[in-house]
Amino acid sequence: MARLLEREPVLRVGLLEGAREARLELTGGFHAGDGRPWRGPILLRPLDRAGVRALDLEGKEIYRGEELILSPLRPEECLFLVRDLPIGIGFHWEQGRDQAFRGEALVRPHPSGGLLLINRISLEDYLESVLSSEMNPSSPPHFLLAHAVVSRSWLVAQLERSRAPEGPSPPPGITWRDRSDHELFDVCADDHCQRYQGVPAEGREAAARAVRRTRGIFLVSGEEICDARFSKACGGRSENFSTAWEEKEIPCLASVRCWEEEDRGPLGTEEEARSWILGRPPSFCADPPEEVRRAILPDFDLATRDFYRWKVVYEREELEALLLEKGGIRVGSLEDLLPVKRGPSGRISHLRIRGSGGEVLRGKELEIRRLLSPTHLYSSAFVVRKDPPGSKRPGRFILLGAGWGHGVGFCQVGAAVMAWKGKDWEGILSHYFPGARLERLYS
Ligand SMILES: [Zn+2]
Ligand SMILES: [Zn+2]
Repeated sequence: MARLLEREPVLRVGLLEGAREARLELTGGFHAGDGRPWRGPILLRPLDRAGVRALDLEGKEIYRGEELILSPLRPEECLFLVRDLPIGIGFHWEQGRDQAFRGEALVRPHPSGGLLLINRISLEDYLESVLSSEMNPSSPPHFLLAHAVVSRSWLVAQLERSRAPEGPSPPPGITWRDRSDHELFDVCADDHCQRYQGVPAEGREAAARAVRRTRGIFLVSGEEICDARFSKACGGRSENFSTAWEEKEIPCLASVRCWEEEDRGPLGTEEEARSWILGRPPSFCADPPEEVRRAILPDFDLATRDFYRWKVVYEREELEALLLEKGGIRVGSLEDLLPVKRGPSGRISHLRIRGSGGEVLRGKELEIRRLLSPTHLYSSAFVVRKDPPGSKRPGRFILLGAGWGHGVGFCQVGAAVMAWKGKDWEGILSHYFPGARLERLYS
């Protein structure tokens, strides 16, 4: 079999796009190929769109060229700090923060003006930072080990996908988000891709250790690295890839029961889906013990928000206004929300929205969640009840749902519970990724 990866990949992470200037602080020594060491604070500015210049603190120009690549003299020790780096772009927590990074800094003029600052960093160092910023250190250790392998596999599979040709366009109203929006680098550092905050703050050793212990290990299925998706809680059964994204069978993402045994098959009919969603089958992600909840869902409000089975109630007018605001949908007086197609976990991929003035078809999973909530519904696995029942002009719509997130692949809550119960990371991974094997592709 051909090697899937020859060596550890180097990622290009976009740190700044279009900035008028950037302030860097170099510690430990860098070189730019000009035979002298670079240290201390520097100011970077674009030179029209033709190049960049670097200035020292007195404003004296110390470099001018098409681009500047600063490489650490000793990769283990050298850091570059970026002052006031914007984080949480477009979210209410947007702010500037100083952040330190390992690896190389690459500075160029951005094609649409300003500066482009890219961090070239090895995959493992990148993963250490991402897992340290996103995972709670008190999570069960085997959950962290399993997650490190999932994140590594997912990331490299995305790089492969972004090189593959785009498939046929879906019919109108059916959309999904998947392909990277980035052309100038592989991933951005913000919530849009994965939050990457450089060298982790202290006390985040547990996640970093899990990355080091699983170094180079990937989920491999057939001749490919498994596109290992993950979401918060599947709701009792994991979902097919094609319910959320393009029409494609991915064997390592086949739907599995989030439980000790395959006690019930995939949901086939509308009736099976209804009784599943309205029921409360035992599952790993059903009722996580208090300490698991606290460990992996730090902001979780225990008393009021049950994500395994949930309920949302809308006045008809409220829902009509939402559909108009979120999707420009006008169907007159709203009469029905009708599932046209569901996946094996009960998630709706195609939904018909019917009113007195017509009907529209919408999908897939994320688009449905976006349309039916001021933010996002927990999932698209829901049953609709009208009040009064059977009414042509109901006063209220009651959505009874299951699970949190797209449900494809790794169920984070379920996996944490499995780890807490004593399952090891290899066992957890083979449960959620049927048929996939673990391979160390570089050491
Ligand atoms: Zn991004
Ligand atoms: Zn689950």
